Amino acid sequence: MTIMMSDARPIFSEETAVPVQLADIEQAAARIAGHVTRTPLVHSKSLSETIGQPVFLKLETRQPIGAFKLRGAMNAVLSLDDVVRKRGLVTASTGNHGRAVAYAARELSVPATICMSALVPSNKIEAVRALGAEIRIVGTSQDDAQEEVERLVEYRRLTPIPPFDDANVVAGQGTIGLELVEELPDLTVVLIPLSGGGLAGGIAAAVKALKPRVRIIGISMERGAAMHAAIAAGKPVAIREEETLADSLGGGIGHANRITFALCRDLLDEVVLLTEDEIAAGIRHAAREEGEIVEGAGAVGIGALLAGKVRPFGPIAVIVSGGNIDPKRHRDIVEGATA
Ligand SMILES: *Cc1c(COP(=O)(O)O)cnc(C)c1O
Repeated sequence: MTIMMSDARPIFSEETAVPVQLADIEQAAARIAGHVTRTPLVHSKSLSETIGQPVFLKLETRQPIGAFKLRGAMNAVLSLDDVVRKRGLVTASTGNHGRAVAYAARELSVPATICMSALVPSNKIEAVRALGAEIRIVGTSQDDAQEEVERLVEYRRLTPIPPFDDANVVAGQGTIGLELVEELPDLTVVLIPLSGGGLAGGIAAAVKALKPRVRIIGISMERGAAMHAAIAAGKPVAIREEETLADSLGGGIGHANRITFALCRDLLDEVVLLTEDEIAAGIRHAAREEGEIVEGAGAVGIGALLAGKVRPFGPIAVIVSGGNIDPKRHRDIVEGATA
C-alpha cells in the first residue's frame, strides 16, 4: 500500500506561513549541541550489497535515551522562559518522548510529570521512572493520557511538551536533516519512520530546504498508520489503535493538528506501509547483520528496503530512530524464523 504525492501542492498555502524554517532548525542545532549526541552515520555493507546502492544508517539508537526524541524535547525545553520551566513540564507519551522529557528535565534540574496510557509496555514505563519523573497511568489510549496533560496544565500550571505537533519539537528533530546533508552531500533518498510526523516533517524541512531534489519517504506500519490515513483523507482522521511491533509509531496525529500534518502532506514524496513480518525482518537484520538492537519503529526503514517497497537510486540514508525494545521480545524476534 503506497500513496504517491509527486504532484504535491505548493508548500503551504499563502495564509499559513511555513511553520518550521531552515533557520529555526539551525538555531535548534546550536541550542541542543552539547545536550544531545551527534549520532553516527554508518555505511551498511550488507544492505548496500542487497540493494545495489550505498545505504547509510543514522543511528539515533545512540542518543542517551536510546531514541531521537531527545532532540525535539531538549530544544523545546531550552526554548522556555526560566520561570515557566521551573514550574515543571508535563507530557503524554508512548514511551520515548516521555523518556526524552524526563531526561531533559533532569539535565536542566526541573520537575517533569509523564502521563501514559495503560497500553504502554512496562519496560518503557520503568525507563521513565528511572529518570526521576513523576508518572501517571491514565486510560487506555493516547487521547486519555492527553486529557490528563490538559488537566495538569490547567490546575498545576505545568508546561506541556508535545510529542510532535510543536514548532520547537519539529525543529529539534530536523537537526538530523542538517547532519545528513553535511555528512552525505550526494544523498538522494531519506527513509524515515512516521507516526505523528515530527521526525519526518523536521528532517524534510531541513533536507528539502538544502537539497530540494532529495526524496523523503515516510514509513509506517499497516496497523494504524495515522498520518498515512490523514494524508489520504486530506485531513486528520480517527484511526483504531492496534498492537504492532512498531509500538512507538502508534497513536493518532491529533484532530486539531497544527503543524506536522501540513508539513508531511506537503514535503513527503511518498508514504510506505509495512506488515508485521516486514518490521520483524528489519529488527532481525539490524541485530544479525548490523549488530544493532533496534526497536520495531526504528527498523521500518531497513524493513522497507528488504521488502523491496522502496527502490532507490543513489545514496540512501535510513533513520534508525530508536532501540528501546523489551529484551525478551527482541530475542524472540531475532531467533524466530518469522514474526
Ligand atoms: C516517536 C518515534 C517515531 C515517530 O516520530 P514522529 O515524530 O511521531 O513521527 C519513530 N521512531 C521512534 C523510535 C519513536 O520513538
